[in-house]
Amino acid sequence: MSAASVFLPGSTIGVMGSGQLGRMFAIAARRMGYRIHTFSPDKNTPTGQVADLEVCAGYSDEAAVRAFARGVDVLTFEFENVPVQSVEWAAEHCVVRPSGRVLHLCQHRLREKEFLKAAGLPLAEFASVISLAELEEALARLGAPAVLKTAAFGYDGKGQHKITKDSDLASVWAGFEGQPAVLEAWVPFEIEVSVLVARGIDGATQVYPVCENAHANHVLDLTLVPARIPAEVAEQAREIAVRTAVALDLVGLLAVEMFLLPGGRFLINELAPRPHNSGHFSFDASVTSQFEQQLRAVCGLPLGSTELLRPTAMANLLGDVWNGGEPDWAAAAALPEVKIHLYGKAEPRPGRKMGHLVALGGTLEEAAERVREARRRLVREGANTAV
Ligand code: AMP
Repeated sequence: MSAASVFLPGSTIGVMGSGQLGRMFAIAARRMGYRIHTFSPDKNTPTGQVADLEVCAGYSDEAAVRAFARGVDVLTFEFENVPVQSVEWAAEHCVVRPSGRVLHLCQHRLREKEFLKAAGLPLAEFASVISLAELEEALARLGAPAVLKTAAFGYDGKGQHKITKDSDLASVWAGFEGQPAVLEAWVPFEIEVSVLVARGIDGATQVYPVCENAHANHVLDLTLVPARIPAEVAEQAREIAVRTAVALDLVGLLAVEMFLLPGGRFLINELAPRPHNSGHFSFDASVTSQFEQQLRAVCGLPLGSTELLRPTAMANLLGDVWNGGEPDWAAAAALPEVKIHLYGKAEPRPGRKMGHLVALGGTLEEAAERVREARRRLVREGANTAV
């Protein structure tokens, strides 16, 4: 199969993973006349509910992965922690975009950081840690405070520990249960931002406006677009994102999370080679959504415009919003510039991403106030949920 193959509407796209990112990708793809097959260990999934075919099998099930790959024209991901071996099996039967190499880099913090450093991209000082002695040595070099993170399979602040000069290193290290880790210097950031960039099979790139992200309990809470930073500072972040996509030789979509330091310099925090929670605004507020852009990139079509139509704000809806019973959807829908997105998950557990709201405004402040007001309206009285 040629690396430059183009897949036109009517083709079948396979998605590894079956969560909300795959769901919104599938909606964008079906709108353009593609067929969607999804693969994950679960049934009745957010992606499966809107796909043409939902395959339920483990990512390491060789026969199932090969059969799935034979049934699609091109394979992509909504989740990067798919074993690289499975991606190699699939690549014997269909085109895989982004490549297994990109996935392999981005599913491991240490590999990702070493790659970024070698590419001359800006990131915080870091050290590999596989023993208590190495942790002590790394902390002496980087200084406290610092953050210890597991090298593999971390997301939303899971597998992380902030280390201060008073921390008991032996007990922190015991908590990591021997898992390889990375120690990162503490970054005294002003704000956190992310930039989405798409790169096509011809190497053309399209980059979105900078997203300003606020987290609560390590999980994304609010995204404002465009970020409230000077245009020339935003341009630097966009350039870093494009350079990263080029260095990866990416075909697909990439989210680059960054810290903005006082003084206007950026450090990359982490990469996600797929649509990203902070890019959800684009479904309602951009000429081309991040999901359609991923579709265009992996199908070899020309990329679409990333122009922002209006200032916009996105608020996540975690399971906590259900604390007082079914949220008051009609009250939120009564705000005419607010869009409700729900992922079809049956059980609203605390902390679980169930959906999000997007508000458009004449100004960013107006959009932000609208999205906050809509989320407050959802929560039933007496629910004891902070929104
Ligand atoms: P991560 O899972 O690496 O994206 O980290 C989750 C959150 O922890 C980030 O969004 C930051 O708010 C915070 N964080 C992570 N690493 C650092 C760091 N080196 N310095 C300061 N804050 C950090």
